[in-house]
Parts: sequence; structure tokens; C-alpha cells
Amino acid sequence: MSLIIADAVTAPAATPLEDARAQLAEAVAVLGYDQGIYNMLATPRREMTVSVPLRMDDGSSRLYIGHRVQHNFSRGPAKGGLRYSPNVHIEEVRALAMWMTWKCALLDVPYGGAKGGINIDPRQHSMAELERVTRRYTSEILPIIGQERDIPAPDVGTDEQTMAWIMDTYSVNKGYTVPGIVTGKPISLGGSHGRASATSRGVTHIALAALTHHGIRHQGATAVVQGFGKVGHDAALFLAEAGVLVVAISDQYGAVRNDTGLDVAALSEHMRATGSVVGFTGADEFDALDMLELDVDLLVPAAVEGVLHEGNAARVRATIIVEGANGPTSPAADRIFEERGILVVPDILANAGGVIVSYFEWVQANQAYWWNAEEVESKLAERMQAAWRQVVEYAAKRALTLRAAATILAVERVAEAHKIRGLYP
Ligand code: GLU
Repeated sequence: MSLIIADAVTAPAATPLEDARAQLAEAVAVLGYDQGIYNMLATPRREMTVSVPLRMDDGSSRLYIGHRVQHNFSRGPAKGGLRYSPNVHIEEVRALAMWMTWKCALLDVPYGGAKGGINIDPRQHSMAELERVTRRYTSEILPIIGQERDIPAPDVGTDEQTMAWIMDTYSVNKGYTVPGIVTGKPISLGGSHGRASATSRGVTHIALAALTHHGIRHQGATAVVQGFGKVGHDAALFLAEAGVLVVAISDQYGAVRNDTGLDVAALSEHMRATGSVVGFTGADEFDALDMLELDVDLLVPAAVEGVLHEGNAARVRATIIVEGANGPTSPAADRIFEERGILVVPDILANAGGVIVSYFEWVQANQAYWWNAEEVESKLAERMQAAWRQVVEYAAKRALTLRAAATILAVERVAEAHKIRGLYP
């Protein structure tokens, strides 16, 4: 009998960690910090890799590998999502954890950064199997998580149901209910109003601010959204509500296009019914690879990292790129966009709405007092707009790209906290 390790762990072709470290190195150089500070910030504070054996519904078993990387705690508990994808690799999780540290620092929420992942394709499993995998992973990482230590949240391939299982597993082990252990929970379990659409709302606030900054009217501006999932779906809807013509949308199965503007609500209905944007009657199908190269005002990559790289950056024709995904642009592509005058709004600013409302959810859980949707949305808008203004002003003053400005501001806050606390012992 031959044994097959489920979804064998292979190193990804792209190296998000190298990208993340290159961005950090640039910030450290501008700030004039030494190699010791760079090494400390380039290396996760703590990480755990665990085997996650799964009993399948048919009685057979599989083995998956899970990680939890805690990049930094200098400003507060570690915070970040949990990703279920066959591409999960420790190097990717390390990069995503580092970006969470910068995101939380930039938006001034009192957290460090973390990320988790399991190399599982959730679409290949029943709900019962996903529940068992989630509970086993949670019990394996239990010693290092906690509402004051590290607070998971949804990311690619996980959702509010996943968070409910994590909260339940953690709480059963503790012997009492701990709502603050995760964010992005169902509202019936203490989830926050506005959390599910928070990343998309934040992306929309930033996209509209960036259009205004460029002197482009919202009404009739054109946009492409890559990804029609947790971030892209609602971002496309909100942009369309603001009068933007969303002319193309893709998902993992294909892309649809309508140059007069897609009916995003109808496309959403089609997706609910069929599971994909493909086959939507109000649009033409076209090659998803061409998506990123359409001549539009706004490009919103809202899927995965590494989609804008040296190989396609010269062909991108958007005026503004707003990063809904984490790490969609490589440093080489960033340089090409800078030379070509394309404005890139970095992930740690553009998609921070999710973790901001995660923070609000955690505050509410800790106080056992719930805010209404209007309160959440106005506080979210305030924080996103303040961070946007701060990054734009800092970038203008020092002739930096928005990514460099955002990363420098964030790294400086983390390094400052580290220095004031002092090195123990
Ligand atoms: N996974 C989301 C992100 O990348 C949210 C993290 C959180 O809310 O903790 O920002």
C-alpha cells in the first residue's frame, strides 16, 4: 500500500516573505536603524507548527499541517487571520504575520501581528470535516492563543463558522465562554455589527479617497475588482453604490466584463446560485489573466498575494491600485508602478478595515457591551480616513511612495514601543 501525505507541503514559487523583508529593509534604512533592529523585526517572535490529523467522513484519515506565527507583541496581543488554502506554507504565513504587525501599528490599534494557516482546500471537505480540522488545530495551538495573547480572525478559506468552532473549542477547554478569543464571530456569539463587510468598506473608503486625490469623479469612474470573495464581493457592491462603474470582476473560475458597468447585485445573485461569476448573462466572459491589464481608473486586487509582478507590471494600465488583498504587488512591480506614475495604495492601509472592526469586536467582547451598526461604521470611516490623510501627508513631505510612507510610519511605531519597553533581560 502506498501512503500519500495529503496536500504535500511544497515551497511556493513566489516568496512573500522576501517581499515583506525587502519592504522592511527599505523602511529600516530610511529610519536609520541598525541591523539588530532589522533582524528583530524580520524574524517572528514565536511560531508553532502542528500536525492536524483529520478523520474523514468515510472513515479514512488524512494529515494536514497547520501553523500559527506570532510576528510581534510589542504594542499588544498578536492579531491576525487564519487561512485555509492548499498553498499555505510557513514562509507565506510569516510574511502575512509581519504585514499584520505593520497594519495594526499603522491604524494604531493596540495589537502586534500574527497569522495562521492550514494547507487544506476547504472546498474539498464537508462541514463536519472542516469542523474536526478546526477543533483539532485549535486544541494544538491552544497554549499560545488567548484573548490577551493572540486573537485569530477569518482570512482566505475561513469564515464566521470557523471562528465559532475556535471559540467553542477554546472555551470548552477553559471551562467558561471566552468571546474575546476570536473576532469575526457570528453576531449571535458576540460578533460585531459591520465586521463581515468591514474590509470591503475600508477598501471603498480608501478607493474613493484615492480617486478624489487624483481629481477623478466617483460617478462614472471605472474599476476592475479581482476576486469576488470576502473582500472583493462587498467592495464591488459598495463601489457600484458610490457610482463607480465596475467593468470587470473575476473569481477563481473565470472573469466577466461589461464596459458599461456590471450589475454587481445581479452578479452576486448569480454567484449565490451557481458558485461562480462564470456564466453571468449580463456580461461577456474573458480571460482572467487580462483582468489586471484593463484600461481603468481603479484596479482592486482582492484575491491573493503576488499577482502584480515584474512580468505584468509594465502592462497594467490602471491609474490607481488599491490593495484589497495582502501582498498582491511585488517590490519589483512597485518600482515599475512608481516610474510609471501609477498610485499604489498599500494593503496595510487599504485593507485594514477588517482588523479595525476586529479590534472594535474585541473591545465590545471585553466590555460585554454591544455597539450598533452605525456606531461601528462611523468609527471605521473615521479611522480609515485619518490613516489615509496621515500616509498621504507623510509621503508628500518626504517624496515617498504610499507603501514606503505607510511601512515607515508603522515600523517606527513598533520599534519605538520595543525601545521604550527595553530589551529583557
Ligand atoms: N485576515 C484579515 C487581515 O488580513 C483580518 C485580520 C483580523 O481581523 O485579525 O487583515
